[in-house]
Amino acid sequence: MMALGIQFSPASPTQPVERQASPVSAACATVDNYLLHPDDSLHERIAAARARLGERAIILGHHYQRDEVVRFADCRGDSLQLSRQAAASRAEMIVFCGVHFMAQSADILRQPHQRVVLPDLGAGCSMADMAEISEVEDAWAQLERLRLADEVLPITYINSSASIKAFCGRHGGLVCTSSNAARALRWAWQRKPRVLFMPDQHLGRNTAYALGVPLEAMTVWDPRQDYGGNSWERLRQARIFLWKGHCSVHARFRPEHVEEVRRRFPGIRVIVHPECPFEVVQKADFSGSTDFIIRQIAAAAAGSEWAVGTEVHLVNRLAREYPHLAVRHLDSAGCPWCSTMFRISPQHLCWILEELVAGRIVNTVEVPAGEREAARLALDRMLEI
Ligand code: SF4
Repeated sequence: MMALGIQFSPASPTQPVERQASPVSAACATVDNYLLHPDDSLHERIAAARARLGERAIILGHHYQRDEVVRFADCRGDSLQLSRQAAASRAEMIVFCGVHFMAQSADILRQPHQRVVLPDLGAGCSMADMAEISEVEDAWAQLERLRLADEVLPITYINSSASIKAFCGRHGGLVCTSSNAARALRWAWQRKPRVLFMPDQHLGRNTAYALGVPLEAMTVWDPRQDYGGNSWERLRQARIFLWKGHCSVHARFRPEHVEEVRRRFPGIRVIVHPECPFEVVQKADFSGSTDFIIRQIAAAAAGSEWAVGTEVHLVNRLAREYPHLAVRHLDSAGCPWCSTMFRISPQHLCWILEELVAGRIVNTVEVPAGEREAARLALDRMLEI
């Protein structure tokens, strides 16, 4: 395969630097020049740069990405699906239009000759940020002091940093997605009596409950309190410790939204993501991963009405792609959207692609080697089940 001959160049001075860049090139453009252009004025330049890169680059677009960006994606999907598609491709450059942990997952799964870039390094994830590796190590040390750690298997949702995934890899645990969280929990309970589930308490609670675990056998682990805010007895009773984290988009849904939409549209079916709070999931007709939601809508009978509790860009896209259905957002007043995902703009995408055309890689995301191997172990365990 032909090499791009790319050199590393500095990230935008307005963005945090992921990796020390060198050498500094006088010809390197910063994203600031691009941000002066309106959103819709760069389409031709993006398309031209994309065409020049050909098979050497692949553009990944997460389902929650805005339309002005996702229209240029070679593949659309969730983070694991996209990372695996990129790793299986011939591309040398993986341009991930998503958030930071997703680019890290792509870096963990990539082939040795591939590199991953994130158009805006400021595109993080509020949920992933709720579990810092120092907090997780501290929690584990507390469990060791209580002589409980040997009874606990850690599982992390894929929406977490590479260091948390590596922690799970080193401690016999694994990664899960919202599609396979139930399988991951069953796998873990076959090996240990308890699970530390990070970082989304809602996905952990909803999945464990669906597997028949009563709420009394679950406890929240608050990293800001000693022993997660639990007594020894409480921890001994629990089968799952739910890390106190949530998605800022899905946690905004309330049971009242379900009641209201049913009052306004009798007969409507409500489908929500399992990152929503327990009470919302309990009131909904269906709950499942983004992929599950898309498949349910795709298979729905013509004329049926659906209220969808997930990120608004995906819901709007579903409404457009299935005009024979009535698809509406569960919270029509609030319309929660992922503000960090939204940071990936056409301007950032144009900048990244034109820099690649010029032979420069900016905004690389690279997981350190040791961490990468341990995180890969946790991901491989998931893929095996
Ligand atoms: S939707 Fe929620 S979990 Fe997904 S990237 Fe945004 S903040 Fe993170």
